[in-house]
Amino acid sequence: MPRIVTRTVIFALVCAAALAIAMMLRPELRLAARAAWNDPRLLAAFADDARIRYESEARACAAETAALLPAAIAQIEAAHGRHFAQPPIVGVYASFENYANANAMDDPGIAAVTRAGAALLSPTLCGKERGRLEGVLTHELSHVHLSGWRPLGAPRPPQWFTEGLAVMASNGGGAEGVSEAEAAQAIHEGYRVVLDGRRWIDFAMLAFEREPPRHPKLDALTQRQRLAYRQAGMFVGWLRTRDEKAFMQLLRALEAGEAFEPSVEVAFGENPSQLWRRFVADLSQRGRRDARD
Ligand SMILES: [Zn+2]
Repeated sequence: MPRIVTRTVIFALVCAAALAIAMMLRPELRLAARAAWNDPRLLAAFADDARIRYESEARACAAETAALLPAAIAQIEAAHGRHFAQPPIVGVYASFENYANANAMDDPGIAAVTRAGAALLSPTLCGKERGRLEGVLTHELSHVHLSGWRPLGAPRPPQWFTEGLAVMASNGGGAEGVSEAEAAQAIHEGYRVVLDGRRWIDFAMLAFEREPPRHPKLDALTQRQRLAYRQAGMFVGWLRTRDEKAFMQLLRALEAGEAFEPSVEVAFGENPSQLWRRFVADLSQRGRRDARD
């Protein structure tokens, strides 16, 4: 074998070995590689709609999703005040295992995930949790919309904001089972979600000022997540009602890749904590008014 070829082969082997070791040491690299391998864009397009990619066993679910998609897209474009940067991709899975491989979290228990600009839907949304399909699809499209505009490597807005935005824009998708009245009552009683920059995706990290009591029907993680999502959704909705122009200015800034905190200050003239305190005060004032009426 000529020396140059031998060197190339050795170099390729060393690279492959280094990659394999890196993946063993860094689980997130392994998950990302597996997700790329299972990217929904590699699945077949549904009928003439290239936006919907599906596993062949999920044909009926893909049809149901396709029927809901135009209204869900219109709703997100209206709520975000802008069209999608590119047509959103929605992956519809029949196999929980393939879905878990594709969602980069190795977790088949999550109803949906937005990854690399595509919304991935768990088979549960056409099964046990069919009632959530429309809301969760719309919720995920909010994430796809924002991430579609943001430049690569731009700082991520805090998760409380992106989840609150998605809950607000989808009229409660992702916060099912917790009404606004229940969330307001929880805020009134001090069970307030802590709005910080941490990743809520690890729900053990999700903090409340006071630990909410257990819901008899929901598991603890689902309960905490939905209460947090509902509170965040109400706060984001309150920001929008308070000043629609400022809210749209904030979204445009985030889409341009600006950092979250300064963008809030520029748009609203106050930081998120100050605005959250106003929101809580407003809510309790409204509660007192309702009690009087
Ligand atoms: Zn979400």
